[in-house]
Amino acid sequence: MRLEGIHHITAITGDARRNLDFYTRVLGLRLVKKTVNQDVPSIYQLFYGEEGGEPGASLTFFEYPGIQVGRAGAGMIHRISWRIGLEQALGFWTRRLRDEGLELERVGMRLRFRDPEGLGLELVVSETVDEPLVASHPDIPPDFALQGFDSVRAYARDPERSRPLLTETLGFERKSDAVWEVRGEERGGVFAYDSAPVEYGIQGSGTVHHIAWASPMHEHQNWQDALLGAGARPTSIIDRFWFRSIYFREPSGALFEIATTGPGFTVDESIEHLGERLVFPSALERLRDEIEPSLTPLPDPRASWSKR
Ligand code: ZN
Repeated sequence: MRLEGIHHITAITGDARRNLDFYTRVLGLRLVKKTVNQDVPSIYQLFYGEEGGEPGASLTFFEYPGIQVGRAGAGMIHRISWRIGLEQALGFWTRRLRDEGLELERVGMRLRFRDPEGLGLELVVSETVDEPLVASHPDIPPDFALQGFDSVRAYARDPERSRPLLTETLGFERKSDAVWEVRGEERGGVFAYDSAPVEYGIQGSGTVHHIAWASPMHEHQNWQDALLGAGARPTSIIDRFWFRSIYFREPSGALFEIATTGPGFTVDESIEHLGERLVFPSALERLRDEIEPSLTPLPDPRASWSKR
C-alpha cells in the first residue's frame, strides 16, 4: 500500500477573478473544474491543473469573497513547489513573473515568489523521472511549463512529533532532517517542515487549507483502517463525486486528506470542455438555481485563445 504522491492542494482566495487570472494566464495552468465547496456549497471551489485534470498537479481554491488576509503559522503549509524540467525555464519564468511585477527570489535551482494574495510558491528544476503533468498555454513553451507538484513546506514547532505517523502509517521516508518523501508506483511527493514563526497563523486569503495524498481506489478503505489503528482519528470516507476522501490532522497540525485517483474529472465533462461551465456534484445539483446567481461571474480563461 503506497501513496502516489500529492493528489491536490487546497488553498483560500478572497478574490476568484484575480486568482483565476493569476493561475491560468500567468502560471499557465488549466481551469479543470469550476464547482462549489461541497461542505459550504454557497462558495466556489476552483481546480487548476494539467490538461486532463489528473491528480498530481491540481491546486484548488475555496473562494471566500473578502475574507481576511491570512498568515501561515505552526501547523500550516507555507510554500508550494512545482516541478519544471529545464534550467532554461528558470530564465523564462524570471522574465515572465517580473513582467507581472512580482518580487522574485532565486535560490540555486529554485525560483520563489508569491501569488497576488501572498501564498508562497516556488518553481524547482526537478531531476525526477516522474511523468510531467503539463497544461497547454499559447505563451508558454511546453518545455518550460509547470510539470506538477514537487513538494510542500509546512511550519511546525516540533516536527519529530509527526515522524511516527508519517513513517509507520503513511509510508513516508526521511530524505533529510525534516524532509519526508512518499512514493508510489507512478509518482512521489515531498512534505517538509520549517521551524514555525512566533506569530500564530491566520486561516485567510493566501493560505493553504489542506493537502491531499493520492491513493488507488482499491486501497482507500485500507488507509482509513490504518489511520484508525494508528489513533489518527480519520473521518469516514466521503464521496466527493470526482474522488473519495478521508481527512485527518497530522501531529504537527497540518490537515491531510487521502483522495482516490479515480473516478476523475472526466466523469461529468469531456476532456475538451473541462472547467468551462459551473458543475455540481449530482447530490448538490438541486442547489444550482439558488447558488449560481450569487457566485462571482468568471470568464472562460481560454475563450480568447482561438482569436489569436
Ligand atoms: Zn481536498
